[in-house]
Amino acid sequence: MDLNLNLQHYINGKWVGANSERTRTIINPFNQETIAVVPEGDETEAKEAIAAARETFDNGEWPSTPATERGAIVTKIAELIERDKEELANLESLDTGKTVEESRGDMEDIAGVFRYYGELADKNGGELIDSPVPNSISKVVHEPVGVCGQITPWNYPLLQASWKLAPALATGNTLVMKPSEITPLTTIKVFELMEEAGVPAGVANLVLGAGATVGNELSSSHDVDLISFTGGIETGKKIMQTASTNVKKLALELGGKNPNVIFADADFELAVDQALNGVFFHAGQICSAGTRLIVEESIHDEFVQALVERVKNFKLGNGFDEDTQMGPLISAEHLEKVEKYVQAGIEEGATVAIGGKRPEDPELQNGFFFLPTIFKDCTTDMSVVQDEGFGPVITVEKFTKEEEAVKLANDSIYGLAGGVFTNDIAKAERCAAKMRMGTVWINEFNLYFPHAPWGGFKQSGIGRELGKLGIEEYTETKHIFQNLKPEPINWF
Ligand code: NAD
Repeated sequence: MDLNLNLQHYINGKWVGANSERTRTIINPFNQETIAVVPEGDETEAKEAIAAARETFDNGEWPSTPATERGAIVTKIAELIERDKEELANLESLDTGKTVEESRGDMEDIAGVFRYYGELADKNGGELIDSPVPNSISKVVHEPVGVCGQITPWNYPLLQASWKLAPALATGNTLVMKPSEITPLTTIKVFELMEEAGVPAGVANLVLGAGATVGNELSSSHDVDLISFTGGIETGKKIMQTASTNVKKLALELGGKNPNVIFADADFELAVDQALNGVFFHAGQICSAGTRLIVEESIHDEFVQALVERVKNFKLGNGFDEDTQMGPLISAEHLEKVEKYVQAGIEEGATVAIGGKRPEDPELQNGFFFLPTIFKDCTTDMSVVQDEGFGPVITVEKFTKEEEAVKLANDSIYGLAGGVFTNDIAKAERCAAKMRMGTVWINEFNLYFPHAPWGGFKQSGIGRELGKLGIEEYTETKHIFQNLKPEPINWF
């Protein structure tokens, strides 16, 4: 298949590695067909890319480029993404199996992220602060952190990359990005667009390869000043350890097991609809998926029944078919993981209300499909309630009192996001205030936008992406004090 794409690493302004002997085959999860063969980098390419980013940062040209100019380049990237939106959406769907309609939406969001940080680039000036010394100037300025290692997952390959690339470039950092080895295609394409937009050589570098080699080199290298990582909790913990070798700054966006609390006084149809969207979008492979439903007892049975009726009609299939609502999981390995997760739920006593297995439809046998699954009779101690399954699986628990609902919602090592559905505004606000997570949606689920910060409480991560806080992750703060009328102290 001709993708018209540089299937290579991008290091110091050059596309390299096309003839590498080490390669990786990228497959379409819908039918396991080969989409591309890319070079497989390791520590060697990672070191070269880090050296290029270090040299480019230390020579000072990019960090001292006026922020307005850097912002204009970032805005230009947004425009190029909009221009090539259809090509990018097709690539993303080929690589991940998600529906093209969803990928188109992703591309709009991604352009929005670049646009937001392009516009914010020159609005991050410092401030003068009051000085205790007469005739002096005391100012606080924000400077780029330096060389950033950026590691992304496979579920939203380009969206997650945009949350890292745009603020890093806007603030004058240099970077080395390692996309997930399973889904590198849209990231490659965006590096082409960044080159076209005028990002200077050495500023943004791309190395394709595995976490244990390229990723590990980024997190352990003493020439990298910051690691921004999005992925699973166990990988995040490993990265914290390796990153400690030179006390790197860390930004971690880890997993979630996100509660969605449905009160009896909620708009029933709205809550059913949003509960389904909240979890089955992209086959549940979303860090913020509302996989943990907590439903008031008086409506529990009716609510579960309504979910089941809607799930019965879900259309699974090829993301390129217009009527497909849910695509496959990302890989054979992940499908097996989800299957084991569901099996554990059954063994622990949860009842499968629908799904619970692979589909039997002959047309889906070449893809990594799993049926949308609803577990009822769940209790908080079950692994399906506590662990992030990262598949199309909802668990349903019951509650009777508001405090109990909040307690259940908070009973997790994660704290990424959660939702509350009720028509009682005061109750919604009380719950939102007590829910220990980085985002709480009221009568909504899974909505995010560039100017709202995103990140987790507890083990869901460290730091925030998006919004103004997203830019702060990529800056160091410096206090500069100048005495305009210095006098000797005469102490010694
Ligand atoms: P993963 O942790 O397996 O891999 C993520 C990235 O880390 C990949 O690029 C991988 O190659 C790399 N990696 C693996 N081992 C590494 C190591 N030792 N050192 C450095 N890098 C290493 O995660 P995944 O399976 O790709 O993605 C799914 C996970 O991502 C889920 O847990 C999901 O919740 C999380 N996620 C979180 C957010 C968020 O915003 N909080 C967003 C998307 C995905």
